[in-house]
Amino acid sequence: MTTPATTSAPEEARGNLLGLPRPALEAFVAGLGGRPFRARQLMNWIYKRGAGAFADMTDLSREFRARLTLAAEVRAPEIVSVQHSADGTAKWLLRADAAQAFEMVFIPEPDRGTLCISSQVGCALDCSFCATAQQGFNRNLSTAEIVGQVWLAARELAREEASGPAPAGAARPPQLERRITNVVLMGMGEPLANFRNVVPALDILLDDFGFDLSRRRVTLSTSGLVPQIYRLAEVSNVALAVSLHAPGDALRNELVPINRKHPIAELLEACWHYLDEQNGRSVTFEYVMLDGVNDSPAQARALARLLKGHPAKVNLIPFNPFPGTRYRRSPAAVIQRFRDELIQRGVLATVRRTRGEDIDAACGQLAGRVIDRTTVRLGSKVIGFSVQP
Ligand code: SAH
Repeated sequence: MTTPATTSAPEEARGNLLGLPRPALEAFVAGLGGRPFRARQLMNWIYKRGAGAFADMTDLSREFRARLTLAAEVRAPEIVSVQHSADGTAKWLLRADAAQAFEMVFIPEPDRGTLCISSQVGCALDCSFCATAQQGFNRNLSTAEIVGQVWLAARELAREEASGPAPAGAARPPQLERRITNVVLMGMGEPLANFRNVVPALDILLDDFGFDLSRRRVTLSTSGLVPQIYRLAEVSNVALAVSLHAPGDALRNELVPINRKHPIAELLEACWHYLDEQNGRSVTFEYVMLDGVNDSPAQARALARLLKGHPAKVNLIPFNPFPGTRYRRSPAAVIQRFRDELIQRGVLATVRRTRGEDIDAACGQLAGRVIDRTTVRLGSKVIGFSVQP
């Protein structure tokens, strides 16, 4: 039996163009008998115009479109659900596989629209104050799934914009930026633990023919995987954020266990090296404010001693609680005092405004969800997926 030429290959057999940086796309196009500039045309359709169907790409020949349809596709993660916060923040739950989901969050502000994307389903780093850590590590996201979040969000935002006001109860002030101007890898997962898939995704975000974002508007946040920071310095130049959270090793060992392997002094060396290599302006140090744990004025002074004279900015994040956590958020006055101590010592510091709390979309609250409670049977052993809040 022969398959009619118009039938597409099964999904798995078709290449997902969303995962291909320009050189790989050029090679793919060449394999289909297309000239290299066809890759740039394709990227223009996919990333600049948000197209997903080859049939729409009218400046490609009919014949080439037919070949593409057989061999390739533009496949973003599937949306499981979307929630809109009263402050305009939107959170999408995306399907990773039959049972697991991951999240992305869009945060509109007057002057920018920031998309916070995930790099892994779950996380293995086990930071004690983070909701994602509680579910453990499930798997790395592919390059296509990482890039696909940005592609999908851009399309969804444009579609929502075109279809009028947000759903009931989610009235948003009209002056908020609804386009994606910034992307932060601060969702679920540790991006540097998924180096191989994250780096090509960064390339596509920055490529003139891709999303064409400025390198200062793409931020990778890491818990401090020192060897990978050195590797990143060789292949990328995006902005770097580091989850510091403590001014000394004893406390950081407890909050961010990877510190036992790569202590603060080593981590900071890697940060300064990254800036030297990239001619970067500064590293942002994230510091979650945990009541009575890391928020004293003495700890602020210790943090200032660590960073003073270096190209560093501190971003204080009020802790966002989640079910089962033993931590509490520092009171606003304590956070202000902490910030003032830093500023008085010449260290730039800001307090991150918490957004999307009403839909559990705030930093560190992304827990994904088990979307299918079916148990997996392996022989006689029954493994139930752990149910996330
Ligand atoms: N793994 C990366 C990126 C994901 S987390 C990293 O560790 O940097 C993005 C930021 O949110 C990190 O600074 C993280 O420490 C912080 N965070 C995690 N849990 C939080 C919580 N419950 N409240 C506030 N911030 C949190």
